[in-house]
Amino acid sequence: MSIPQALSNNMKKISKREFFKIGSTIGVGASMPATSSGDEKTSDEFTSSNDLLDRNFQSPTGRHFGTQVIHHGEEPGYQVTPISQDKATPQYQRPGNMANPTVAAILRKVLDAEGAEDAVGGSCGMGIISQTYMSLLKPGDRIVTHRCNYDWVTTFFRSFMPKWGVEVEFIDFNEPGNLEKSLKKKPATFVHFEPYVNPTMEVLDSETLIRISREAGSKVILDNTWLTPYLLQPCRVGADLVIHSLTKYIGGHGNALGGVVAGKKKLISQISQSQNWLGGLLRPMDAFLITQGIKTLSLRMQQHCQSAQLVAEFLQEHAAVHKLRYGGLPEWNPHAGKNSLKGYGGMLGIEWKSDMIHRKFGSHLKLIINQTSLGDPVSRVTNRKEDKSKGIPRRYTRVSIGLEEPEDLIADFRGAIAKCI
Ligand code: PLP
Repeated sequence: MSIPQALSNNMKKISKREFFKIGSTIGVGASMPATSSGDEKTSDEFTSSNDLLDRNFQSPTGRHFGTQVIHHGEEPGYQVTPISQDKATPQYQRPGNMANPTVAAILRKVLDAEGAEDAVGGSCGMGIISQTYMSLLKPGDRIVTHRCNYDWVTTFFRSFMPKWGVEVEFIDFNEPGNLEKSLKKKPATFVHFEPYVNPTMEVLDSETLIRISREAGSKVILDNTWLTPYLLQPCRVGADLVIHSLTKYIGGHGNALGGVVAGKKKLISQISQSQNWLGGLLRPMDAFLITQGIKTLSLRMQQHCQSAQLVAEFLQEHAAVHKLRYGGLPEWNPHAGKNSLKGYGGMLGIEWKSDMIHRKFGSHLKLIINQTSLGDPVSRVTNRKEDKSKGIPRRYTRVSIGLEEPEDLIADFRGAIAKCI
């Protein structure tokens, strides 16, 4: 029996390892109708650009990524560093930070995974983003950023920065020449962007944007929450700082809050120092849970990439969908598989053909949750209003593909859409 036949006959009997191997070349099982009109696709028609599952990634330490995040940072003598509530264990002490082995374990894992010089934790993603800028900026400074970021980052930049005398310019980073022009016109202290943009799913050319910023004398900060160091390591291509909401993929289980900024030692030490008066520290219980989460990051990200690719390919062909936005689809991202990214994770965006389906399909989902959050085992959808200034299209739904079996997610989408027609 050929593998495509085996897949369509009984997908459940296929091992995970085989599923990863074959899923990357043929897409989802051939028995699944791709459109609401009931068109059946043959397995040959399912092609996937997903060549993301590079198990051979080697870190500069010579260890593979998956090995490194398991072993690095653990307290000597432990495989699982215990929860220490000690405010200041002497050998971990640093200004401002909750200084103990439990917090140190996750910081070490992240900074080694990112290839950074140092890292400091915060209470959540937004906590560490605001602390980073509040620590490093002064009146008269200028930030240039992409027209679209995580909503609260935009609010922070738009509402608070001007009050502190910091200018923020929002431009379209899809065309790196725009950044070049802006920095030529007026230098900026920082350039900030998300390499895979929330919620528009734009895939920005990180390497070029970093190079342009550095040549113009700006420091570059990337929010790498959506891709994680498993898929992109911005410090290794010149970023000064990389930020993560640890709450999302790195923690990976939706059970802990945290943030981290990793990068140049001098900048990290300034942020760490400021935590003396800003507070908002990463707590040991969260650090402990996130440390267990990061140990399975590479496996989880492989599954997120694989499942998102399969769901995206299914939805792209669906009669109810106008356009599907996912980094792994060449129709959306012409550079899919060709740039420095290893993959695009679990986030995708649907542009619907009809208002009614956009409004209603969420209430007919049985498995996927109609609620805002992302990066954990549970799949979620969130509707967004059109916002031309940010590049958010009309009738748009952001999807976080979790760790459920992709055929169940596809069945849930198919069923919910069918109820709206
Ligand atoms: N950065 C990105 C790209 C996000 O998507 C989010 C939250 O969704 C954050 C930062 C903020 O993270 P937190 O919820 O931990 O504050």
